[in-house]
Amino acid sequence: MSNKLVFIMLDGLRFDTAVSQMGYLHHLIEKGKASRFKVKSELPSLSRPLYEVLLTGTPVFKNGITTNKTVRLSHEESLFHLTKKHGLKNATASYYWVSELYNSAPFDPSTDRIQLDGQKPIERGIFYWEDHYPDNHLFADANFLLNTYDPDFLYVHSMNIDDDGHKFTADSMQYRNRVIKVDMILASFLPVWMEKGYQIMVTADHGMNNDGEHGGTTTADRDVPLYIISDRLKPGIYEEEIPQLQIAPLACELLNIQSSQAMQQLTIPILKGAPSI
Ligand SMILES: [Zn+2]
Repeated sequence: MSNKLVFIMLDGLRFDTAVSQMGYLHHLIEKGKASRFKVKSELPSLSRPLYEVLLTGTPVFKNGITTNKTVRLSHEESLFHLTKKHGLKNATASYYWVSELYNSAPFDPSTDRIQLDGQKPIERGIFYWEDHYPDNHLFADANFLLNTYDPDFLYVHSMNIDDDGHKFTADSMQYRNRVIKVDMILASFLPVWMEKGYQIMVTADHGMNNDGEHGGTTTADRDVPLYIISDRLKPGIYEEEIPQLQIAPLACELLNIQSSQAMQQLTIPILKGAPSI
């Protein structure tokens, strides 16, 4: 594996549903190809604040993205800024709020849906704005970016799990079955991306409760999975719960770039020097 990284963020995927429904990812764990952690999300357990947490490694009281309606550019140094600063190529297929945080706000669908000119912190971006934009289309967008631009860092952000969670609650056939469907999409793309030498991270911003909402402090709201496919971690299930502020510095470590001053020191047990195991 190289230092390239695909970071997949499955919006609204709670930990226990990922564990019970994602057969492909757990196959990789059973066969010694992946590791799994439980992550405790930052608060509030809302989307836009946690996008900023995941991508900058800063807590909400510092970064100021306190609500879903805080529509402005981030003031922090994101993984997009950092990869660009270190001469790496970045790309994303994401919900439009990611464009608003790092490229331009407010989002204008007539100009901002496809941004490929490389001038802004997100160098190549394809953005959607409907929560039911099909995940299989989203992953096809990501695959196009990967094959066309050979990015070192590709961020893939899906929305259908969150959408079904709001419509039907986390305790529903629709939510659980959606998670299976996303696992099946992963099963079609991940082998190809791994074959191309990419490391893979899969995580979520927040969970989903049985009222069809998130934002609170319960384990349903806050506990999300983290799967890592990289020869820099011992595969297996790690029982220790890790804070979500570890995700951004972990991504920097896997990309082999220096993290930002604002990020935490990494506590996840990375194998130094990327040995094969
Ligand atoms: Zn949501």
